[in-house]
Amino acid sequence: MTGKDSITVCSECKRASCWLGLFLCEKAHSASTIEVSIEQLQEWKLEHPDYWDHAKFRQHMLPDDDLKDCKVLLEAFVISFRTRVLEAVDDILHSDPAVSDPTRLYKRIADAVNIQC
Ligand SMILES: [Zn+2]
Repeated sequence: MTGKDSITVCSECKRASCWLGLFLCEKAHSASTIEVSIEQLQEWKLEHPDYWDHAKFRQHMLPDDDLKDCKVLLEAFVISFRTRVLEAVDDILHSDPAVSDPTRLYKRIADAVNIQC
């Protein structure tokens, strides 16, 4: 990180530790966030710089928009996976009605939907 990098901090107390939820200030519940350069934060000396590393890491983890996209993809995957499993169970029971051993049934479902288990 360089001094020009910006860090997300609480708009009220200007601390990353507050935004991270580690040490909430009195106004945290109504505060928003702002981006502040490391140079500025170093001048203010409000908290240990380690919190800026944590904040930077969290900024890169999953921005909100990515998280929404991720959730939509995950839901679509679960729905299509469920359909594939149900179709596989249907096929298996039609082709081999005697399959009653759960382990064998799970294995055949896994093979049919092409997953590792
Ligand atoms: Zn705060």
